Amino acid sequence: MQLKIYNSLAGEKEIFKPILEGNVGMYVCGPTVYSNVHLGNVRTFLSFDFIYRSLMHLGYKVRYVRNITDAGHLTDDGDVNNDRFVKQTRLEKLEPMEIVQKYTVDFHKVLDMFNLLPPNIEPTATGHIVEQIELTQKLIETGFAYESNGSVYFDVLEYNARGLNYGELSKRNIEELFANTRDLDGQGEKKNPQDFALWKKASPAHIMRWNSPWGEGFPGWHLECTAMSTKYLGETFDIHGGGMDLKFPHHECEIAQGKACNGASPVNYWMHANMLTMNSQRMSKSTGNYILPMQLVSGENDFFEKSFHPAIVRFCFLQAHYRSVLDISNDAMLASEKGFSRLMEALKILNSITPNDEKQSGFNLEDWKTKCYDALTDDFNSPVLIAHLFEAVKFIFALKDEKETISAKDLEDLKSTLNAFVFDVLGLQNIEENNNEKLDQTLQVLIELRNQARKSKNFDLSDQIRDKLLAEGIELKDGREGTTYVLN
Ligand code: AMP
Ligand code: ZN
Repeated sequence: MQLKIYNSLAGEKEIFKPILEGNVGMYVCGPTVYSNVHLGNVRTFLSFDFIYRSLMHLGYKVRYVRNITDAGHLTDDGDVNNDRFVKQTRLEKLEPMEIVQKYTVDFHKVLDMFNLLPPNIEPTATGHIVEQIELTQKLIETGFAYESNGSVYFDVLEYNARGLNYGELSKRNIEELFANTRDLDGQGEKKNPQDFALWKKASPAHIMRWNSPWGEGFPGWHLECTAMSTKYLGETFDIHGGGMDLKFPHHECEIAQGKACNGASPVNYWMHANMLTMNSQRMSKSTGNYILPMQLVSGENDFFEKSFHPAIVRFCFLQAHYRSVLDISNDAMLASEKGFSRLMEALKILNSITPNDEKQSGFNLEDWKTKCYDALTDDFNSPVLIAHLFEAVKFIFALKDEKETISAKDLEDLKSTLNAFVFDVLGLQNIEENNNEKLDQTLQVLIELRNQARKSKNFDLSDQIRDKLLAEGIELKDGREGTTYVLN
């Protein structure tokens, strides 16, 4: 089985060859934790969660690093006084690190809700200031960077003069870049408008600041990813991911920094996830066209007619390939909900099927498995994989209606393969089972409270608990082994 990955740098699908056989080093740009993540951000992280799960399922040992951007960096207009963290501290009257903590916790909660696995390492930009200063020093020493008025800039023209190619990832040529730049940041300090900041001098209003050989300041955004990916994955590693919008300038700058520092391209496979749109417009905080994950799950929003369980949102996202734009709509969510229920129903039915070794089955399990793995290894094609899973679903319904048969061996194989794809690879959760689990936990708490009430001879309360549950159709039964319940 050969894994093919679309490499944004090459502009085509390539056969994946890890640096160290059987191992994968993967870095994904994490969130800037100055406000709540919106559903669009979730799509990108979910795309890479699916890729992470797929790589592990295919037998790779993965070291997955996803950072937290918690050092202030500039807004798109490049105005130093417009640092997102500084703005938010003023708005919320909180310390910068309180903002960081608040939104890091929110980020983790949201990803947990959508059943994303945590990365193996989650480094923070503020925890790697020393590494970033060291890299900046190295770039100055080797002539790739220069200091100007307490800030340090990467010299893009010098980089190109040495035969390196700024713009290779975003396929932009440097003359074009110079002609079209609107970057106001560092005007008068930079040799060229495309030079980007490695270190920025902090203005008096800037509260997130650190000492450096160039005075008090803070690191440039692009540098943190080079510092942390090099530290945990090496100077050249296998996969670097992020949203499509990070290709330029962020990832372009990472390539330039890596090549200038180490003489080698830092990443073998660049992977970019496409955007989530709503009403055909990119989801983004700045335009107001966004929805928070909790608003979709609770139903408190003006875009969707009902609430949707996170597992259904996850299923909906995975029905589009990670490199395609996905437009989220009420109809798309309703269709996903239907499909999801049918898939879960089929899994339930599968547990009650009686095999038959006598009759020949019309379903070729080996062929089906091959098609599923072909989809997975073809640049992680989740929609094609899901389409194949639904062929199995159709077959399972035919088994239920006794229009088809399956041998005992194939039944076990189908069960384990389907469960692995649905739960391990796609990362879906069985909503019904979860609800039952929750109900059970809640009833155990009530039984315990009733026992305590009885012990302290508060029979009024213990009877109330029993009677109220009975009125809801839940009968408590006291026996030698303790109290059990029956759902009527
Ligand atoms: P940020 O916190 O702004 O750096 O964004 C975190 C991640 O979310 C980045 O990888 C972005 O590319 C990604 N992102 C932002 N907007 C969207 C969107 N509408 N759809 C998908 N991903 C997005
Ligand atoms: Zn990054």
